[in-house]
Amino acid sequence: MNSSRTWKSGEVCQASGEYRCQACHLAGREVVGAFEVGKILPLCDGCPDKDATWRLVRAAAAARI
Ligand SMILES: [Zn+2]
Repeated sequence: MNSSRTWKSGEVCQASGEYRCQACHLAGREVVGAFEVGKILPLCDGCPDKDATWRLVRAAAAARI
C-alpha cells in the first residue's frame, strides 16, 4: 500500500475521492477533481506541460455494495 497520499498524472488512482493539484494549489489556483479507483489520473488543466501531482484531500464515502 502506498503510504503517500499523492499520485502523478498517468498513475492509476488507488483511492476514490477528491483530489487537488499540488502545483496549482501552491500557485494559488484551486484545481480539484474527483477520481475513482482504477482510473488513470489525468493531466491538470492548469499544468498543461507538466505531470500534475494530485493529492487526495477527501476520500470517498464507503464503497457501494
Ligand atoms: Zn495543476
